Amino acid sequence: MYNTKAYSAASATSPLASDTIARRDPTDRDVQIEILFCGICHSDLHSVRNEWGGAVYPIVPGHEMVGRVTQVGSAVTKYKPGDLAGVGCMVDSDGTCPQCKANLEQFCPNLTLTYNSPDQHKTAPVTYGGYSDSIVVDERFVLRVPDNLDLAGVAPLLCAGITTYSPLRHWGVTKGKKVGVVGLGGLGHMGVKFARAFGARVVVFTTSPDKTEDALRLGADEVVVSRNADEMQKHAGSFDFILDTVSANHDINAYLNLLRLDGNITLVGAPENPLEVSAFSLIVGRRSLSGSSIGGIAETQEMLDFCGEHNITADVEVIPIQKVNEAYERLLKSDVKYRFVIDMASLKSE
Ligand code: NAP
Ligand code: ZN
Repeated sequence: MYNTKAYSAASATSPLASDTIARRDPTDRDVQIEILFCGICHSDLHSVRNEWGGAVYPIVPGHEMVGRVTQVGSAVTKYKPGDLAGVGCMVDSDGTCPQCKANLEQFCPNLTLTYNSPDQHKTAPVTYGGYSDSIVVDERFVLRVPDNLDLAGVAPLLCAGITTYSPLRHWGVTKGKKVGVVGLGGLGHMGVKFARAFGARVVVFTTSPDKTEDALRLGADEVVVSRNADEMQKHAGSFDFILDTVSANHDINAYLNLLRLDGNITLVGAPENPLEVSAFSLIVGRRSLSGSSIGGIAETQEMLDFCGEHNITADVEVIPIQKVNEAYERLLKSDVKYRFVIDMASLKSE
């Protein structure tokens, strides 16, 4: 075991603060990575504040990492010291269940999440995430990072990127489809970029009228301010697919009513409280409502390679880790353009 610097929260009401955590020494199959950048996902905030329940403290969040390999175990074949590498929301799974065999590790019943999951290696009670200097991960859960992209802008691809890429692919978003993206935050802005890259007609729904110009620049064909009922009504019954990335309570029926026959709305946003669904919003037009969780490792690699080929990265605000609590407050106000990313070099001075 060795110690590494990190930022952790001691309770649901404590700010994140400097800490020291233990990491395991790399085993045969492990890759040790010096973390260069780590994105701030709204899930970090939900988790730190225990909005979903089950938080174990201290909690070290962060599941959007890019860095450099510093050491590899003797059985590691895909990475060597000096390589760029990424780590997302998962660090282990059983590898034997039907979901793992289908490259859908995110649905493995024995999944180990990057943070706040029981630590199979018993280095600590739970796993610790990317707001830290370094991490040790089984090579099966390490991603190759294209070397032509801005690294700070790559970090958010490991969660916000795959979480939007996967459902857009799954629901067949291609040229000729009309696609809505609800909420222009970290996930939403990646959803816009991917839906555009896949050739769809993209409409952004936002509660922030001042994001209109940005939405168009990011690839939207049209922007609807969702608080304006008349503007919403104009799109009634017209969407093939809507991706809902909203992190707080909102009226899902208003979006269901915009779907055409057999249209689907997929929730990736995970608000703290249940959403109310009117039966008629689904019955009329045989509409469906689904969810989606990140994406498997193979698909995450496919997404990263796609981003390399198409020059896609997140639009980021790079911050030192000392500003992380301020960033959380801004996230709650939907005030981020469009992902905060921590420059981990700032942790060295702690
Ligand atoms: P974010 O950057 O904070 O973006 C959320 C956006 O939702 C905001 O920018 C805002 O967009 C909109 N919004 C916020 N409050 C709202 C309200 N009260 N009513 C309507 N719209 C509101 O968050 P994120 O990191 O993209 O994450 C979004 C959600 O996805 C979170 O709940 C997160 O936990 C979840 N998530 C799920 C997965 C998964 O695998 N399913 C993965 C990652 C994250 P506008 O200003 O445009 O309205
Ligand atoms: Zn996330």
